[in-house]
Parts: sequence; structure tokens; C-alpha cells
Amino acid sequence: MLTLVAPLRRDVLRLPSLCCLSLPRRAPLSHSVPYTTLGTSGDGINFDDGKVFRMKSNWEILRGLLIFRFCSFPTLVNNSLKIMKFGRRIVGQRLFEVVMRASVYGQFVAGESLSEIQQCMEKLRKMGICPMLAVPIEEDVGEDKSGEVWYSKNLDTMQRCVDISSVGGSRSMMQLKITALMSADLCKKITVCLRDPVLAKEMSIEKLTTVMNGQNNLFSCLTEPENQHFQASLQRLSCIGQYAKDHGVRVLVDAEYTYINPALTLVTMAMMAQCNQLEPWIWNTYQCYLKESYDLLCQDVAFADRLGICFGVKLVRGAYMNKERKLAKEKGYKDPINPDWETTNRSYQHSLDMMLELIGKYGNRYNIIVASHNEESVLHAMQRMRELNIPQNGGVVCFGQLLGMCDHISLTLGQAGYAIYKSIPYGSVDDVVPYLVRRAQENQTVLQGIRKERDLLRKELRRRIFRRN
Ligand SMILES: Cc1cc2nc3c(=O)[nH]c(=O)nc-3n(C[C@H](O)[C@H](O)[C@H](O)COP(=O)(O)OP(=O)(O)OC[C@H]3O[C@@H](n4cnc5c(N)ncnc54)[C@H](O)[C@@H]3O)c2cc1C
Repeated sequence: MLTLVAPLRRDVLRLPSLCCLSLPRRAPLSHSVPYTTLGTSGDGINFDDGKVFRMKSNWEILRGLLIFRFCSFPTLVNNSLKIMKFGRRIVGQRLFEVVMRASVYGQFVAGESLSEIQQCMEKLRKMGICPMLAVPIEEDVGEDKSGEVWYSKNLDTMQRCVDISSVGGSRSMMQLKITALMSADLCKKITVCLRDPVLAKEMSIEKLTTVMNGQNNLFSCLTEPENQHFQASLQRLSCIGQYAKDHGVRVLVDAEYTYINPALTLVTMAMMAQCNQLEPWIWNTYQCYLKESYDLLCQDVAFADRLGICFGVKLVRGAYMNKERKLAKEKGYKDPINPDWETTNRSYQHSLDMMLELIGKYGNRYNIIVASHNEESVLHAMQRMRELNIPQNGGVVCFGQLLGMCDHISLTLGQAGYAIYKSIPYGSVDDVVPYLVRRAQENQTVLQGIRKERDLLRKELRRRIFRRN
């Protein structure tokens, strides 16, 4: 029997009565398990000594120090696009690119050409880290790019991303933003439709998969052009899912804003229904800063169980907190974000514990990536893996951080034999920099909190200058 205490939002995916899985009961927040002691784990892993930074070149250490210093000033981060535009006007495009490649772009981006990307992937692999490519293409509501042609071009780009990801490693992964293949405006409209139980019923996974398989099915809540775009988008999503599966690449679908997330989950579950029969090739993302995240996760786990498919989860705290809160305030609806960081942490741990228990019980049927820079979350996951006898390098549980951030965690995990992935964007300076700036602004709490990495880089630099052992 499934034992969920919180009410489930069945309207979103039209869930039938919940079935045979036994999910852990949601613990009262005040009684959550305490975090492991910071910095070290029971198997001797130590994030505090910084010895892993010996693998970095002098320039990488200096660059890291300079960039993290820059990122510690919110005014600079908030105005970074203006600063860059001004800089480009003064020094010209060519010199601007050189400076960017030597600095921010070099720190956080794999490169632009195939050889640059492959070089970055190879370098990570040598350090025990798996690459997870992320194409920085996305669309927000109201941006409506240049129609079907733009989305079709993006499908080609995604397929190329699968090709690059599939070379040279087992359990390859890549990230996918649905809004690169389907209009954000349509996602918003579908999200609104899903709130109506009658319309939600019509948007069943079964019906979506028939469209993915090439049938011409219409949805009454959409206009004719919207129906056409939805059909084309579902076929693009089906195409990329199948293509990735055929090439042995797992697709981790990103979560975005709450005004489109239900639509993203709907189409992601349809992709899962198509591809996840024997292995979790398609994964969905859960943002634990959302008050409803644990319930949504339980709901989708139960739904996957009813369909008899495998289920992969990317667990994050969430990147769009400020915008979500601002919108809720402006539009006068309830803030969807947890009241404070501690509540988000507890929610993260509840979801993590629930998934780890399922993996401990059912093995490869469930997969999770602990996508976090938070040491306590990483250490807690490692401890639970040991307790539940989950192999550290099997890949059913893996860890993820962004390229250029928290390398002391990623390198240590990689050296210890855990499955660790770095999310790496790639593309031209002009394409990627606006994306990086947005991410830096959204992740200011993380960037300001990476004092430890800065201290460890400084320690390593001093060691080299004074030639200590
Ligand atoms: C591989 C990978 C994939 C990712 N994919 C996605 C994705 O698909 N969608 C997405 O949204 N993000 C994604 N992220 C970004 C991720 O959400 C951020 O990195 C994350 O928010 C930072 O959390 P942390 O656990 O690393 O750090 P921590 O420093 O432990 O947590 C910071 C986070 O806590 C939350 N928080 C901070 N203050 C408060 C507060 N006052 N109240 C409530 N919550 C608060 C916010 O989410 C903030 O970002 C991804 C990250 C990685 C590494």
C-alpha cells in the first residue's frame, strides 16, 4: 500500500488511485535526521584538505580565485551583463572574446568547437569525473523565438549533443530544457489547462504518447496553431528521447519556473512512458525549494510505478527563487517557495531519503542524481548509501555539480570512486555568456557561499609559492 500523508495533486497528471509501492512517510520537519558532521564522511572522505587541487594548473588556481572573488560582490554580479557590454565596446569583440575565454567562459564553459568540448570531457574523465553536457538553449514566456524552424534547429543541436555525450563513457548523461523544443507560452497554457480536472483528463499520458507515435490527436483546450505546435513538439521530444536511448545516453530534463513546470513534467512523463520500460533513460527534476516538491515527487514515483516503468530523478534545491518570489508578490498569489533555507534543506533530505530507500529496495529501477553543491547533502547521501548497501560506483546514485564550482567536492568524490558528473554548458561566447550571467544572478547564494573553495585554492597557491609538500 502506498502511504502518503500529504494530499497529492492528482489533477496534474490525472493520477488514478495510488498503488502498490510503499513510500516512506513524510517525517515531521522538526524531527528530521541531523546532518553528518561537516567536511568528513565515515569512509574517510575529506572535503577539507584541498589536496585534490594539486591536479589543477597554476593558471586554473589563479583564475578560480579571481572569479570567485568577483562573484562575492552582488553588485558586480547583478551588473555583470552591463559591465561586459561596456568592456566589449571599449576593447572590441576580438579582445573581449580572448579575455572572456581566459576568465569566466574558461572557468564555467567547455568550449565551442567539438575538439574543445572533447578536450574538456577527456580532462574531467582523467580526474574521475563524468561530463554531463548541457546545451544552453531555453525560452521564457513571451520570448517566442522564430517559430517551428528555431525548435527544429534545436532538435538537431540536441541530437549532436547526444552524439558527443555518447562517445567514450558508460552511463553517459546530458541535460535537456523542454523549452528549447516547445514554446514556453504553450507550456504556460497547458499548465493552466491542467488545473481544470476535465481538461487535465484529456491531457492523459496515454493520449500524449499516441501523438508521440505519430497519430494526429487534437486537444480541445488548444487553438489550431497551438495544437499543431504541440504535435510537432511532442514528436521532437519523442525523437530526442529515442535517439538518446539508442545511443546509450540518459536525458535529464531540467525543471524551470512554476508557471510552466506542470506542463514540463507532463511531457517528461510521456517521454518516460515511451523510453523507460527497462531502464531509466529519461529523468525528471524536482526543486526542493518548492513547498509542494515532496508531494510532486511522491506522485510521480507512484505514477511511474502504475505504468510499470523505471524512474530517474535529478534532485536540486532550485535556481529561480528570486524570480518566483517576485512574481508571486506582483501577481498576488501564494509564494510557492519554502519560507527559509532550513525548510528547503529538510525537504531536500526527505526527498533524498525517500529515493535512496526505494533504490536500496528496488535497485536500478530507480536512479537519482544528487545535484547539489551542499556538502551536508552529499555526505548524507554517501552515509545512507553505505547503510543501504548501495554501491558507490554503480551509477544508480550519482552526484552532480556545475563545471567550475565546488571542485573540492567533485574531485574528491571522483577520486574516491563515486559516480560524479559535472554539468557543462558549451557554445560560443556570445551565446553562452548571457546564460551564465543569468545563472550567476540566480545562484548568488551559492556563489557567495563558496568561501571554502576559495580558502582551499588560496592554500594550494601558497603551497606552490613556498614549495611546501
Ligand atoms: C547538475 C545540476 C543540475 C541542475 N539542474 C537544475 C534544474 O533543472 N532546475 C533548477 O531550478 N536548478 C537546477 N540546478 C541548480 C540548482 O538548483 C542550484 O545549483 C541550487 O539551487 C543550489 O543549491 P545547492 O544545493 O547547490 O546549494 P545550497 O547553498 O545548499 O542551497 C542554495 C539553495 O537553497 C535554496 N534557498 C536559499 N535560500 C533560501 C530561502 N531563504 N528560502 C528557501 N530556499 C532557499 C535555493 O534553492 C538556493 O539556490 C542544477 C544544479 C546542478 C548542479
